[in-house]
Amino acid sequence: MFPRLLINLDEVEQNARKVLDLSKKNGVELVGVTKVTLGDPLIAEAMKRAGVEIIGESRVKNVERMLKAGIKGPFMLLRVPMPSEFRKVVELFDYVLVSDPKVVNGLQELADELGKELKMIYMVDVGDLREGVWFERAVEEISQCSRCNVVGIGTNFGCYAGVIPSSKHMKILLDIKEQLERNHNMRIEYVSAGNTSAILMMERGDLPQGINQYRVGEAIVLGTDVTNGRVIEWLSQDTFVLEAEVIEVKEKPSVPFGERGFDAFGRRVEFEDRGTRVRAICAVGEQDVDYRGLRPVEEGVEVLHASSDHLVLDVTDAKRNVSLGDTIRFRMNYSCLLRAMTSPFVEKVYSRA
Ligand SMILES: *Cc1c(COP(=O)(O)O)cnc(C)c1O
Repeated sequence: MFPRLLINLDEVEQNARKVLDLSKKNGVELVGVTKVTLGDPLIAEAMKRAGVEIIGESRVKNVERMLKAGIKGPFMLLRVPMPSEFRKVVELFDYVLVSDPKVVNGLQELADELGKELKMIYMVDVGDLREGVWFERAVEEISQCSRCNVVGIGTNFGCYAGVIPSSKHMKILLDIKEQLERNHNMRIEYVSAGNTSAILMMERGDLPQGINQYRVGEAIVLGTDVTNGRVIEWLSQDTFVLEAEVIEVKEKPSVPFGERGFDAFGRRVEFEDRGTRVRAICAVGEQDVDYRGLRPVEEGVEVLHASSDHLVLDVTDAKRNVSLGDTIRFRMNYSCLLRAMTSPFVEKVYSRA
């Protein structure tokens, strides 16, 4: 059945093992993040086989899925929780990222009531402008939580504004930790300071001492680092491969005929006149992939555009004669993988070798 996603669990495991090794050398604990796979239990297992202990997830439902499949925690909730899900969070998670004293108090009350230990890591925004208290106000705000189980501070990079982590950012966090411990009688056990975008700092050996936890998804799952715009050479990119089936091959001009408005998604598409070309349509579309994130494995195959259900390729320069019923393979970036994992139309096929 097509389209399908070929998932190589051994490659994921190998990637996890390599990131884990590098983390250990830097005194950093590694949280393995499964959210791009929707909490796929087989991915979590691959990370666990590599030696990852804590599984990081952004959604409660994904953790419920893993628990149902027999995956044991500990689990860390990466997205600051919705007030309507506090009880589930306390019941299912061991760690949670937080960014508001009201949330800390609410979770603490429930944890006390249910007799559960929930470790909270307070997020500090050091510049990427997503979650967390702005660093200049962090000590003031976090110190209000000194009677709750706030055991760490954390930050996120790259995901929103594309901010690249630096030792300057890391030192801000370490300074906040020191002030909380010195002036507010808090014990900050964890400084959870990075995701994939901060792996480069470990590679270069310029991660300041005291940063002791990373939460990593993309590097393990795809072997890439989108924030720094790179393929991570020492990791595998053969973890996830998409296969789509060709449903039409035709020679057509490379520019449209007639006056043009917008495409099905309200976008204006640019065309370059390259004469007559061989175009193939694959039965996969925006509902299943982010076409801009597809990279054909085969040389000479070029992705042109997509609508909901159709992916149009230029196969003029392909080494073989692409024909009806053939399959075409693609590697994917993070946003494309997220969509492929989420689409019920994409079959997931696992292998371990
Ligand atoms: C998604 C996420 C991560 C993992 O990020 P990657 O870039 O996939 O490594 C880490 N922390 C938080 C808070 C996240 O939301």
